[in-house]
Amino acid sequence: MYWTGLKYYSLTRRNLRLPPERLKARQWRAMQELVDFAWRKVPLYRQLYESAGFTPDQLRTPEDLLRVPPTRKAVFQQADPDSVIARGYHREALIRRRTSGSTGSPLNVYYTPEDRIYRTLIHLRILFHNGMGWRDLMAHISDSRHATDERYSFQKLGFLPKEFVYAADSPEDQLQALEAVRPAVIYGYASSLALLAGEVEKRGGSPLRPRRIFTTGELLNPSDRVRIERAFGVQVRDIYGLVEGGDVAWQCPAGDGYHLNVDSFYIEVDAGGRPAGPGEAGRLVITNLHSRAMPFIRYEIGDVLTPPQDEPCPCGCTFPRLQVIQGRADDWLHSADGQKVSPLIFVVASIPGVMQYRMVQEAYDQLRVEILPGPGYSEETLNQVGIHVREVMGPGLTIETVRVEAIPKDPSGKMRRVISRIGVNA
Ligand SMILES: [Zn+2]
Repeated sequence: MYWTGLKYYSLTRRNLRLPPERLKARQWRAMQELVDFAWRKVPLYRQLYESAGFTPDQLRTPEDLLRVPPTRKAVFQQADPDSVIARGYHREALIRRRTSGSTGSPLNVYYTPEDRIYRTLIHLRILFHNGMGWRDLMAHISDSRHATDERYSFQKLGFLPKEFVYAADSPEDQLQALEAVRPAVIYGYASSLALLAGEVEKRGGSPLRPRRIFTTGELLNPSDRVRIERAFGVQVRDIYGLVEGGDVAWQCPAGDGYHLNVDSFYIEVDAGGRPAGPGEAGRLVITNLHSRAMPFIRYEIGDVLTPPQDEPCPCGCTFPRLQVIQGRADDWLHSADGQKVSPLIFVVASIPGVMQYRMVQEAYDQLRVEILPGPGYSEETLNQVGIHVREVMGPGLTIETVRVEAIPKDPSGKMRRVISRIGVNA
């Protein structure tokens, strides 16, 4: 079992340096095979494709992809639960995970134990490419729900040691727990780490010196990144993942853009029914090439990004890079005239006195900014926040800035910086 895992691992690791043309050819072949498989084995796809008049033999070149009917979360939620599982797989033998539901109601995602190992391998590949070693202790800041299913028996042998710190605990307790175990690597939601960075600032420093910090699960705001890097004296590497497929894109030691796991996913960037051009923003459409039990093909995520570029990366990895992931689908604000505003352009967290913040937009003309006070907080803090947010959002909007004692987390354990109730993504 371990040897099989190691063999697979060395294969997936070798992929990182394959010539881009070879990766592309393999990726395309995998795409064709998966579409054909879904047509033959998955009732949902059979029905979807038949009603659109599509058959897999029409899929000859990537240009033909637009003929393949796209899917989205709602398609799976509304389908008969048995119709989404491929024939030959039994639901009771599969692993079930739920999407967080931050963009609406959650979806049950099923995959095989083998696929779970594959997901772990492509995850480890990111960590190792970024300098983690087999015996480095990782502290995983996690909500307890996921903690147990991430234990592997090889950890008892001293490989990939891991300690869990609970994101629901107070930042004081989390920092204390971290200092007790002195991890080489810290892994957690961006907002959890930003809170911890705030706690370190409050204390005036911490003896913690991790070699690397990885963030995941949420959009990493540039000002949070700076704050985390300053508090812990180490670079942050962000990982973009989905319950529907595992880790999709990730930052490497060169720190410029996100390498896309092209050996495991097929990515399209949709600019309103056509592929986005270089540098043009569009919505992510993803195909998970490694999961067959419940395939996700041309699955519309709604997160906004620009198409990947093939330029060589100094880190040696040949996977193309996405320059920016501009926003999770539910992370956008809207100006009074309906323009989308990326949460990445705010620097609220850098304003003196701000420990944490959250922006809640109830309507196009209503925005509430909640501020959790930190060191240096005064009445002027709210004023400065108001001025900054007004500058970014433009006129016609009532901006309310309020001091709060706590910022609640999502049921998923994530803390969202931006909550839009405008429902444009419904
Ligand atoms: Zn790189």
